[in-house]
Amino acid sequence: MEEEGEPDSTGHKYGPESQERKNMVGQVDRAVGYLRRRIKDNGLESTLNLIITSDHGMDTVIKENEIYLRTVQNFSFQDIQFELLDYGPSGLLVPKENKLDQVYQALKNAHPKLHVYKKEEFPKRFHYANNTRLTPLIMYSDPGYASLSLNESKRTLDLGEHGFDNEDMNMKTIFRAVGPAFRKGLEVEPFESVNIYALLCNLLGITPEPHDGSLSVMHPCPFTLPPHKSFCYCPSKLATCGCFNSIERHLGETHRATGEGAISWLVS
Ligand SMILES: [Zn+2]
Repeated sequence: MEEEGEPDSTGHKYGPESQERKNMVGQVDRAVGYLRRRIKDNGLESTLNLIITSDHGMDTVIKENEIYLRTVQNFSFQDIQFELLDYGPSGLLVPKENKLDQVYQALKNAHPKLHVYKKEEFPKRFHYANNTRLTPLIMYSDPGYASLSLNESKRTLDLGEHGFDNEDMNMKTIFRAVGPAFRKGLEVEPFESVNIYALLCNLLGITPEPHDGSLSVMHPCPFTLPPHKSFCYCPSKLATCGCFNSIERHLGETHRATGEGAISWLVS
């Protein structure tokens, strides 16, 4: 597994819409091209699965209507025992003893782009509410509102940021896969990255540790719809998972006549 720090760094520094970031995407793309050529040159295309993905997208930071906690009425950092408000859309607060309600009341309507919750009331879809490592008060800001820092003047804001609501389209990332486990030319419905771990373990023959993903999301052929939208990751379980049959059912004669797909699980 290899992680590349770009185009993240350039996206932070110059913003996701900048020419600098586009140039960096081109550079990373050339590196991927090189990798694929080397795989081909070494005769590994039919045995090696290659997955290109990332952990987040990037939003342009909005430089107006900023959120300054120190100016919020009835709020004082004197009431806070611990704060983690450094740079990004999320903020964690531990109010001093018996100050939780007071701080919460002061902050909850402080800014239309700022959302403040007691931990147990945090929207369930974020999976924060039961996490023992999170603080009693949690805040997050709308896409583009990046800094909640106590020392706003201390550092210059980047022009790009991530960590916003994962339903924000700009937070979506890519998933591309090529190799013997993947069908050629297949475009699939969006899925959550939390499921990729199960896929990797399956491809590598590793028993996964407990996790929140599911391999069933990765080969839902029996449930999916038009052929060009169905995802047919299905490396070695044709006999048991039903994908083979469902592909034939979905794609029918035309597909079989082309000779690809149902028995060739190749290249995306
Ligand atoms: Zn980053």
